[in-house]
This record gives sequence, C-alpha cells and structure tokens, in this order.
Amino acid sequence: MSRTAPRALLSTLGLTLALALAGCGNDDEPRNSGDSRPSPTPTESTSAAQPVDDDDYTEARSETREDSVYPDVGDPLVDALHYQLDLSWDPASDELSGEQTLTFRATDDATSIPLDFSDALEISALTIDGKDAEFDLDGKDLRVDAPVVRDQTYELALSYAGTPEPAPPPSERPDFQGGVGWQVTDEHEAWTMQEPYGAFTWYAVNDQPADKAFYDFTLTTPDPMSGVANGVLTDSTTDNGTSTNTWHLDEPASSYLVTVAFGEYQRTDLKSKSGVPVQIWADADGDATPGDTAYAPQAIDWLESVLGPYPFDSFGIVVIDGDSGMETQTMVTLGNTPYSLSAPVVVHEAAHHWYGDTVTPSDWSDVWMNEGMAMYLQGMWEAEQQGMPIEQKMDDWADYEAQVRASAGPPADYDPDKFGDSNIYYGPALMWQELREKIGDKKFFKVLRAWPAAQENENSDREEYWAWLEKTTGEELSDFFDDWLLGKTTPDRD
Ligand SMILES: [Zn+2]
Repeated sequence: MSRTAPRALLSTLGLTLALALAGCGNDDEPRNSGDSRPSPTPTESTSAAQPVDDDDYTEARSETREDSVYPDVGDPLVDALHYQLDLSWDPASDELSGEQTLTFRATDDATSIPLDFSDALEISALTIDGKDAEFDLDGKDLRVDAPVVRDQTYELALSYAGTPEPAPPPSERPDFQGGVGWQVTDEHEAWTMQEPYGAFTWYAVNDQPADKAFYDFTLTTPDPMSGVANGVLTDSTTDNGTSTNTWHLDEPASSYLVTVAFGEYQRTDLKSKSGVPVQIWADADGDATPGDTAYAPQAIDWLESVLGPYPFDSFGIVVIDGDSGMETQTMVTLGNTPYSLSAPVVVHEAAHHWYGDTVTPSDWSDVWMNEGMAMYLQGMWEAEQQGMPIEQKMDDWADYEAQVRASAGPPADYDPDKFGDSNIYYGPALMWQELREKIGDKKFFKVLRAWPAAQENENSDREEYWAWLEKTTGEELSDFFDDWLLGKTTPDRD
C-alpha cells in the first residue's frame, strides 16, 4: 500500500508532486459453463462429494496460523485452496449477489468450519460437498456445522446477496476512514481495498495472509459497466445488456491482495520491454491512462533491473474512486487522486509484487517486510529521478522516521489500532540502506534479488527471513534487526 509523507516533509524534499495521501475476445459464447475454465479446474459442486484433485492446488497449500496482531480474523483450521467467485453487481439497487465455491483443506479434525463473512449479506444456500449444512453467522464469524478430518479436502458452496458494508478500519489513516472491504461510489460503481482484512465484507474467506489460494472470478453487471479482478481476463461477453467478464489468477494470493471492481471502464494494453503484458483499466469517460499509469511498463523495467524478473505473468492497474493505492496481485488498485496515480506510487505498488505479493508475510506483525522494501525501492527510484544520492534521500526521511516511531511504535511491534502508519514504511527503509552500507552493494543487491526468487508464491516471517539473511550474507545481524525493527528509538545511522 502506498504511503505519503506529510506535507512538511514533502516540501523540504522539493517533490514536484502535489500530493494528497498517499475486451478481450468478443466471442459470443454463452456464460462460462465450467468446461472451458483454465486450469486449475475446480470440481463442479452440483453433485455430492466428488473427489477433488489435490494436485491442482499444491501451490496453494499453506501453513496457516492465528494472526498475532488480529487474532479475531482468520482461523488456522482452514487452508483455502481455491475460490470460485461468481459475482453479480446491480447498480440500480447496490446489491451484490454471489455464488461462491471454496475448496479448502482442513488442517485438523474439527466439528465445525470457521470462516470470515459479513452479516450484512444474507446466505440463501450453503452446502458442504453438495450436502446442505447448518450454519451460524454472528457479526463477521461464519461457523458451518460440518465435521472435518485433518488433511481432507472439502468443497463449500454458498449463495448470498445483499448490500455489502465496509468494516471498521484498524487504522487512523485518513485514506482508511471509509472502512476496509467493499465500497460503493456515488455513481453506484463498486471497488474493494482490504488491508489488513476486509475481504469478508464480500465473500466467505479465511481472511489471514498466511493462507494463499487460487482465484477464479465470473463478474456480471449491466452494460456499460464491467467487472475487473486479479489475473488475466479469459473471456468477455455482452449479452442482452449484461456484461460478463471471467478472470483467472493462476498463482495463489492472500485475501488482502484480492481486488474486484465494477465500473464503466476502458482498457489499454501496454507491455514492458521484457514482455510483461500490462493492462490499464480506467474510467471510460476520462483519460485512458490517467496520471502516470502509462509509466507502469517502465516501472517494471526499472524494477527488473534491480530485482530480477517480474515474478508473475501479467500486470495491471484498475483505477477506482478512492484515495489509496494497493498492491493487489497482478492488478494494482489505485485511487483516482494525483498522488495515487503518480509514478512513485506506480513504482511502489509494482515493487510489492516482489516484496509482498510473491513472498507475503505470514503474520501482520511482519508487514514491515512489505512496506520497508517497497519504500526503499521507491526511494532509490526517486533519488535516481531527482539526481540525488540515496544517502541524501534517506537523510531527508530520517527526522520524520524518528517522529513516527515515537508516535506509532517500533516497525515490527506497532499499535494494532494504527495499522499502516508511517512507522512500518520509513524505519525499515532506512534499515535497508544501513544494511547496504554495512555489507556493500554486491552482497546487498544479491540478497535483494535472491529472497523473492527463493520464496516464490510463499509466505514467510521475521525468524525465517533474518536467518536466511544471516546465512546468505555471512553476517551476524540479530542485534541489527532488533535495534531497527523493535527499538523504541531510531538506531544511530552511519
Ligand atoms: Zn506499500
């Protein structure tokens, strides 16, 4: 997620940005019947207890856990493997209708299945492996009464409808104050942003980052609106005034990295020098590539020169009527503001595809793993653009870093009610520069490239990361990380 420095800092930096915060194939085939879906093919759930081919979902097997910062969201019992989300958005009534199939592995024996799902939505049918199941929905806690056995795979299907309500944000950020999750605009368009949680406001989910899963979407809405989601647009039709877009994400994602938006969109196709296809989805009435969104291919080129090959098959940006920027996997969600559409934010969100999306924190206490490196890379890019040494850029950030560490806590031990404050961005960014000076450019850039490559489509945490960094660099770094990430005051900088 992008984060703006406060105005005072920006003016001292002399940034030029006036910043606020931070049809594919038109074949007329009928609506996806299930037999033309790209792999991994979910098993249809219309008849009871069909076996699911686990091999399709190997990459989505996760080591689930209870979150240390937000233990009430997500549950380690469920290892989601695949979400099939067939969603219809009705702008006339602001109603969302969902047909969902969740394929999951039980990580233990249990008598019921816990999931996150908002009670603003009404469930009209729910089955496990094709059999009706009783359930209870209390607040955002969905509990399905069905026994499960450790390491067995199940299919949960549910039908639901209603007007989704965003959830209260665990954050004081101005751009969070509309809540997390599903949002509806004055024009009855819809979009989502859900870090650290909030996917549960629009589908039934294990809403904790350690649990990655594959996703397929079928999005229907009255033309001229259309639906955008993560991954690749595999089919797009308009029939009797209804637009249907199908999207397939073929590398597993954590729920906070999922995006869906319904609106009147135009699409522009671009490509990086290395051949990564890039789609920009922007308001049909405006600029096809608003702000600096057309810079996305160059952002990928620049990041590849530092970090190695882009870790996914495609990249995109969907522009929505909000204030934030979010690194939703392969389809970044950017608010329609000058800052969110600026080149530094495009670079920042693209950088997260190496740091955040392909390797994702297992626990929200380690969100510094995402934001510190995305901010450092953004700082490197800004320094290069401004013709200043990276050391000067870090000096410019240092005073502000000391203030936010004092107000919001250490980067890796922050106040849970202050999610996404500047402390998780600037301190860890300064730390990476200190590590660079300590071990030299050669070792530093080697580990920068090697970590996301070694952790492709995985989750990790501080213990594993620190151990890996020590082993790979041959340096003893435990005091260094403790001081920078858990210290109440900024360590001395060289
Ligand atoms: Zn970020």
